[in-house]
Parts: sequence; structure tokens; C-alpha cells
Amino acid sequence: MLDFSFSTEQETMRRLFRDFAESVLLPRYREWDAKEEFPWEQWNRMAEIGLTGMTISEQYGGAGMGYVEAGIAAEEVGRGDFNCAYAVILNGLVGEILERHGGDRVKKEFLLPMAKGEKLIALALTEPGTGSDAAAIKTTAVREGDHYIIAGEKSGISLATVAHAAVVFAKTDPEQRSRGVTAFLVPLDAPGVARSAYQDMGNRPIGRGSLFFDRVEIPLEYRVGDEGQGFYGAMNGFDFSRVLIALQCIGAAEKTLEETVEYVRQRQAFGKPLAAFEGVSFPIAEHHAKLEMARWYGYRALWLRDENLPHTTEAAACKWLGPKLAAEAIHDCLLLHGHYGYTRDLPIEQRLRDVIGLEIGDGTAHTQKIVIGREVIGREFRPY
Ligand SMILES: Cc1cc2nc3c(=O)[nH]c(=O)nc-3n(C[C@H](O)[C@H](O)[C@H](O)COP(=O)(O)OP(=O)(O)OC[C@H]3O[C@@H](n4cnc5c(N)ncnc54)[C@H](O)[C@@H]3O)c2cc1C
Repeated sequence: MLDFSFSTEQETMRRLFRDFAESVLLPRYREWDAKEEFPWEQWNRMAEIGLTGMTISEQYGGAGMGYVEAGIAAEEVGRGDFNCAYAVILNGLVGEILERHGGDRVKKEFLLPMAKGEKLIALALTEPGTGSDAAAIKTTAVREGDHYIIAGEKSGISLATVAHAAVVFAKTDPEQRSRGVTAFLVPLDAPGVARSAYQDMGNRPIGRGSLFFDRVEIPLEYRVGDEGQGFYGAMNGFDFSRVLIALQCIGAAEKTLEETVEYVRQRQAFGKPLAAFEGVSFPIAEHHAKLEMARWYGYRALWLRDENLPHTTEAAACKWLGPKLAAEAIHDCLLLHGHYGYTRDLPIEQRLRDVIGLEIGDGTAHTQKIVIGREVIGREFRPY
């Protein structure tokens, strides 16, 4: 039997997150953007309902949710505050990596407080010289007795200016590509760490910026996983976060589409409501259909992960199409509001700025197509 329905518990969870997103998050979505401040107040409230430790097990302070439930959270929070959803997803990704690969000390000192919403942990892979080609990173980690020395620079890092720590990817064997990459937990108050903030187009409360590591010393126990395994741990985590990003973007687009339906029903032109013109109703119908398809593709990918089945292709397809379809829908919704949509009186222009960032972050459309092509056509035909 093929069953496309959510369980009663999942529907209850969806209602809880939707009510929370619409009554607590949405009213202040634009405020955090204008202030360029991380929404700590909202974050504390999100911790109370399990959003800061979604799939992290209860043993480490998390909510122990399945992956489909995490998708529901991403979609619903995305309807209220895209940037809160982004922080939820980053927590989910880092939580996966730390719980699967971190040692006891890392779990106690970082995973547990992160799951409770007390600490934020960034993920630092990208560098000024390399983004899509992540295996070409240049940051190094050299073992010296009972510690590692980290040296290098990371760029485009979400939460860089607000996080307490970062999972940093560095080369323990600079001669190798992916096999030379190891992950480390680096406290961002350690001597030798510096940060600088960016002025991005969107995600302005997320504190994106650069991290600089000038011979930063960290204990051996802060290595996350074995030497040379960091790249694979990150890629496995991306198979999860990429789907959540798609659902987060779709959530923001669905909410915008609903607001637009309300608007075109009441706004009059040429003696009729806008909704009566097919030039208005057709784009709404098209975006509704596309978003609904992408949404179910996302839940299928998460179901595959829950079932421990391969889902790399599905995750890459969701990450390519989710943000793209969402940005297109929000763009058309903005236009259907006329000048009103272009103002900051409505959240639409902010949603568009915020969603476009996720067409790049966590891998561009090209990167996703490289992954899909590699899986569908065969690894021997990949371009590198
Ligand atoms: C909103 C946002 C959040 C981010 N958050 C983080 C974070 O938390 N942590 C982190 O480590 N990084 C983060 N990043 C960085 C992000 O992962 C990189 O920007 C991304 O991987 C692309 O790398 P790049 O910017 O260096 O572009 P490049 O790799 O230089 O690519 C430039 C262009 O060339 C294309 N291109 C590259 N190679 C190929 C190819 N083989 N075939 C076809 N086209 C190709 C790309 O798709 C892109 O269009 C974030 C970025 C954004 C925008």
C-alpha cells in the first residue's frame, strides 16, 4: 500500500508549529531584518517546543524527532520567519554531524547546550578561494602532541558573528582532496579566532561572515570523527539539510501565495476583483501546482532517510528545485501586489531576498545537478 497521509501525531505537530510560526514568529519577521539582529527571544521560545534540537536524541537534550517531522518543522517555521527556520536547519545539520561523529566531550560541552537552545554552532566549510569545489579547501589542522593547530580562513559562514562555536573543516592531509578533510569543533572564543560580518542582500539576522583561524589550538577530543572522514560526514548531513532548506523555502512561498490569494480576491481593477482575470489566476495556479509537487518530493526524500534508504539524488533535486520554485512564486506574488508588494509594508520583498540566498547556500543549482548527474549517469562521467 502507498500511503501519502501524515499521521495524527504529525498533523498535531504541524498545527502546533503553524500556530507558533504565525502568532509568534511572523509578526516580528521584518523587525529582526531591519535591526540585523539574531532573534534570541524567538530562539528561546523555539527551544521550549523542541525546534532547537529536532532530530537530536533526548539523551543529548533534543526532541528525538524523525526526519519527516523535522521537515514539517522546517516548512512551518519557514512560513513564519525564514531566518528562524534557517537557524533551525543549521542546528539540525550540525546536530546530525555531532551526534553521529562527535566524541563524549563534544557532545556534553556543545551538542547538549545546542539542542537546548543555549548555544549556536556554525558550520564552516567554504573558503574565499573555494566554495562549490569543497574538497579543495586550504585550511589546515596539524597535530602537535595532545592538540591540533588550526590555520586558515572560512567565508560565507551563516551565524559566524553570533555562534559560540563552529564545526570547522580542515585538511589533515593537504595532498589529498576529500580524503584529506577532517572536521573539528572550534570554540569561537578561543585565542587566535577572529570574525568579520557581511552585508548580505538577505538573511540579515543570521550574522553571516568570515572566520579567521590564526594558529588556533584545540584539544584532540574536539576532532569530530576520524581523520580524513570529515568530508563524508558533511555530505551525509547535506543529504538532510538540503531537503529541509527546500521545505523551508516552500513554506515561505506557500504563505506568500496564500496572502496573494487574499489580496487578489479583494483588490479591484477594471470593475472586477483581480482574481477574476486569468492573467492573475494562472500564475497562482501554476505556482500552487509546482510548489505542491516539490513539497511532496521533499517529504519523500525525508521518508527515505527515515527508512535508511539512499536519498542523495532526491536531496539534491529538492535543493535545486525548492529554492528556485519558491523564489519564482514569491517574485510573481510580489508583482501581483503591484507597488504595494515592492514596499517594506509587506514581508514579500524580504522573503524574496531571503530565499534567493538559499539558491546558493548549501550548494548551488549547478552543484546539485553535478550530484544528480553523478548518481543517474555514473561516477565515471563526473567532470573531476
Ligand atoms: C545564504 C548562504 C548561506 C551560506 N552558509 C554557509 C555556511 O553556513 N557554511 C559554509 O561553509 N558556507 C556557506 N555558504 C557558502 C556557500 O556554500 C557557497 O557560496 C557555495 O557553495 C558556492 O560557492 P562559491 O560562492 O565559492 O561559488 P563558486 O564555487 O565560485 O561558484 C560560482 C558559480 O560557478 C558555478 N560553478 C562552480 N563549479 C561549477 C561546475 N563544475 N559546473 C557548473 N557550474 C559551476 C556555481 O554554481 C556558481 O554559480 C553560504 C552561502 C550563502 C549564499
